[in-house]
Amino acid sequence: KMPVPSDIEISQSCIPKPIEQVAQEVGLFPDEVELYGQTKAKVQLSVLKRLKNQPDGKYVVVTGITPTPLGEGKSTTTVGLVQALGAHLHQNVFACVRQPSQGPTFGIKGGAAGGGYCQVVPMEEFNLHLTGDIHAITAANNLVAAAIDARIFHEMTQSDQALYNRLVPSINGVRKFSDIQIRRLQKLGINKTDPMALTKEEVNSFVRLDIDPGTITWQRVLDTNDRFLRKITIGQSPTEKGFTRTAQFDITVSSEIMAVLALADGLDDMKKRFGRMVVASSKKGQPVTADDLGVTGALAVLMKDAVKPNLMQTLEGTPVFVHAGPFANIAHGNSSVLADKIALKLVGKDGFVVTEAGFGADIGMEKFFNIKCRYSGLRPHVVVLVATVRALKMHGGGPAVTAGVPLPKEYVEENLQLVAKGCSNLNKQIQNARMFGVPVVVAVNAFKTDTKAELALVVQHAKEAGAFDAVECTHWAEGGKGALALARAVQRASQAPSNFRFLYNVELPVVDKIRLIAQQVYGARDIELLPEAQEKVVLYTKQGFGNLPICMAKTHLSLSHDPEQKGAPTGFVLPIRDIRASVGAGFLYPLVGTMSTMPGLPTRPCFYDIDLDPVSGGVNGLF
Ligand code: ADP
Repeated sequence: KMPVPSDIEISQSCIPKPIEQVAQEVGLFPDEVELYGQTKAKVQLSVLKRLKNQPDGKYVVVTGITPTPLGEGKSTTTVGLVQALGAHLHQNVFACVRQPSQGPTFGIKGGAAGGGYCQVVPMEEFNLHLTGDIHAITAANNLVAAAIDARIFHEMTQSDQALYNRLVPSINGVRKFSDIQIRRLQKLGINKTDPMALTKEEVNSFVRLDIDPGTITWQRVLDTNDRFLRKITIGQSPTEKGFTRTAQFDITVSSEIMAVLALADGLDDMKKRFGRMVVASSKKGQPVTADDLGVTGALAVLMKDAVKPNLMQTLEGTPVFVHAGPFANIAHGNSSVLADKIALKLVGKDGFVVTEAGFGADIGMEKFFNIKCRYSGLRPHVVVLVATVRALKMHGGGPAVTAGVPLPKEYVEENLQLVAKGCSNLNKQIQNARMFGVPVVVAVNAFKTDTKAELALVVQHAKEAGAFDAVECTHWAEGGKGALALARAVQRASQAPSNFRFLYNVELPVVDKIRLIAQQVYGARDIELLPEAQEKVVLYTKQGFGNLPICMAKTHLSLSHDPEQKGAPTGFVLPIRDIRASVGAGFLYPLVGTMSTMPGLPTRPCFYDIDLDPVSGGVNGLF
């Protein structure tokens, strides 16, 4: 057999269909499609209205065992499955995947378009810029950041009346409140619409957000791995009159704007979520929102194109939506609700939409169910759980691996004992999926060093652990036809009864919700709230955010809080260091340990190998 060429070589050897043709094949009308060159298009949200009476297709979520540095192949399997269902079994299909951050593409991880003969193409378009959605998020996020500091500055340097004159200017002798200002007045309990009728006290509370700089939770963002921006001092120019403060840059995809984009189910909902985003507290302890800053409308304008899903295709010509890519720890790590909803209508009753949830089933899938499905109202039919022999060996106690060094022999030679031991993790993740009442199909993603006996052992363990079915897949090396058994198993599972349920009721107290996730999904004995977390429980409950779903910010490398604990640890007490709120996106996120929101570059970053061919204009060296 010929060795499998590099991802970019495979991607570039494929001649994609014009994207207009893909759009036509999935039943979109020409006026619903906005072309961005020949291989990408945006799809207008109006299609949801046109197809509102069309029944939805089957909804399949791809997740995995607990990730290891060896890579499990969730994206690759998502693409392999739709290629098998669409190009080989001739079903209506759609894959819905996340847009990757440019940071990792130039840093450590490389691209995220899948791999081998299962990719979204052209992979360089997918991995870089796409249609500019992430750039729009950067712009929107940083507008809010600039608004916060400018507002503090103006409030510090002006009287109430001067602020009022500027915020509510008199035009031809008439003052008028804007819609957003009327919302702010209502929030303050001032039911007046005549700007001349406000008392001095009312003017004071209207013009002064009185932001406590120490409580600002909104950061600036950039989509570059730039570790030296993790802690900075802003306001050092003399024009800012000494109003300096310590601040930070995060990576763009960790912005709450991204999480809102992923959870919004239309323009109106997106605007409402933007308006609710809390950026700080006032000196009296009241939440200060994007609405208070008056920035909501401008954010919606900056995001008006980003809100439309991006249409691309797989190597085998099946349709893909690439839309949104929130962080999977401090956010929920799933692609957009809108892309899934549009895709489910386009495939129709007998079709399949395959969407991917980041990290392992304890994180991506749990958040897919408890956060994304709760907000979208969509109900999943099948869970596909991806496992690999190599990763299970690591869960069974196999040695650590080092980048740039050949893999230890445990991972390239048969070792049934390590595989069997590591299946404890597979077993636990199968139980996690079953807890939500949805049938689980295990996809064993085969690597060329796996032996027959090893692959068979994983299949057997998965079936014994209660999977609906478990199959070997060779799609990475063979494309869609290597995932035919998986596709057939998913078809059968989609006919099985699914009794979907949430793990918790959002009305439960915050601590109870966290404890339920820790005990039921992670296997913890209990949780322990450190003082900062305890304070936040009190604060958020008082501020009225106690009934939001929970988005755990935990390491993805273990079911526990300790990345070294492989397999399926039990009996541990999960420490909750702090709790933060993404009120606009709509969740509280407890911090289990410290989470980096700005990656750095390694000694030899991916950008070393990336180059432009001056003759063809093509991109080389992406992987
Ligand atoms: P995940 O979505 O779980 O992070 P990806 O699908 O992005 O994983 O795959 C991670 C990497 O592993 C990619 O570079 C992909 O090409 C590679 N890969 C996936 N499956 C296989 C396989 N069966 N054999 C060899 N490489 C694979």
